[in-house]
Amino acid sequence: MTNNETIVALATPNGTGAIGIIRLSGPDAITIAASVFKGKDLTKQPSHTIHFGSIVDGDIILDEVLVSLFIAPRSYTRENVVEISCHGSAYIIESIIKLLIKKGARSAKAGEFTLRAFLNGQLDLSQAEAVADLIASNSKASQQVALQQLRGGFSSQLQSLRDQLVQFASLIELELDFAEEDVEFANRDQLKKLILQINRVIRSLISSFELGNAIKLGVNTVIAGRPNAGKSTLLNALLNEERAIVSHIPGTTRDTIEEVLNINGINFRLIDTAGIREATDAIEQIGVARTMEKINQSAVLVYLFDASQITAEELKSDLESLQKPGITMLAVANKIDLLTTQTNPLPDFRTSGLSDFLPISAKEKLHIDDLKQQIYSAAIKDKLTGDETLVTNIRHLEALQKTEEALARVLDGMDTITSDFLSMDIKQALHYLGEITGAVTTDDLLENIFSKFCIGK
Ligand code: GDP
Repeated sequence: MTNNETIVALATPNGTGAIGIIRLSGPDAITIAASVFKGKDLTKQPSHTIHFGSIVDGDIILDEVLVSLFIAPRSYTRENVVEISCHGSAYIIESIIKLLIKKGARSAKAGEFTLRAFLNGQLDLSQAEAVADLIASNSKASQQVALQQLRGGFSSQLQSLRDQLVQFASLIELELDFAEEDVEFANRDQLKKLILQINRVIRSLISSFELGNAIKLGVNTVIAGRPNAGKSTLLNALLNEERAIVSHIPGTTRDTIEEVLNINGINFRLIDTAGIREATDAIEQIGVARTMEKINQSAVLVYLFDASQITAEELKSDLESLQKPGITMLAVANKIDLLTTQTNPLPDFRTSGLSDFLPISAKEKLHIDDLKQQIYSAAIKDKLTGDETLVTNIRHLEALQKTEEALARVLDGMDTITSDFLSMDIKQALHYLGEITGAVTTDDLLENIFSKFCIGK
């Protein structure tokens, strides 16, 4: 695909700012900019230089601006790129963009700059997607994961896997050419070994999705417990210091409250299941589908109970109904401020099957920090070192799963089926791997990915 058209869009957000940056990309970017610029002759300036002057429409001066020049291929899109920094008035920006369109540019579509960067080989597909993730990142961890992907950590790993598979595919292809002579160029033992090795990497990428996705979207954390256990008080205590920087997410149902809490750079989406209280008055009946649904969708469940009130039987039945495979449960004993060591000591909850719990007081804000660290460890465990490759994209996950299936077919059939079928299965695996890095693309796929970008990116 070649792009003869020069595109233009505002690269900074809509609305009034101190400055606005208008970006042009394409073969005529510099001549178009030069035709409206009063100052130096932009067509005679070297790449990576900045020039002060005015944007003029005939005799009318629209604004005083700074123009940055990037001459192909040394630019984001690998085309000629001009960035005009003007004053951030919506009127000025609109006038300049209209003028540039009059001079031959056209409005860029969503993501078109990044699409061109991809088509011109500047970025592979997973890197282009990382650009979108980076723009959308809202926590330290999600920014780091996107940055790691943008730097190519993710793609280079897949690329080398794909290269190894390509080698085998060509050896097997060669066997097909010599079909009558019954030769075997691709050593089956080596192929098996390679596939097992690739499978291991793919499986670890697939299993990184849960964490990667949690980092990208936030870890779902449910607070559940009997009425008056102190859930709302705890939610407030957890959010207290963070309130200034958390955003309020309106719950999907009226009776669940969702807030975002940042712990050690990771966003946790805290869900207070206040609704149980109205619906029933006992936790055994949490059967209220909504609440169970929330719990089932969560990675971490904070089970809060009133340490000064709860009976052994109640605790036991709560634990039975709330413990779920795949969800880490933290048992938290609240209201310890009401317990004194002599007259009213902390009961021995172990008799109810509770081996470990964290004593807190939500009201007095005792051990709230410990709870935060436990919530963090429950979700992240020892899985995060900072430079690992995490899959955060559902499209990548699906392609990896399909690769895994294709490779399983290769393994299954290796000893029994003929080279031509083997070759087909390997090609399928190559296809799915290529879909991630963009070695294999369709127009629909590109349209789908880049339409999610904002205009100007
Ligand atoms: P929820 O129904 O689980 O959301 O419970 P609330 O947060 O509404 O709290 C119920 C009652 O317990 C309120 O009167 C709170 O002030 C009180 N409460 C909550 N946490 C504590 C605590 O740590 N110590 C004491 N003494 N009271 C608490």
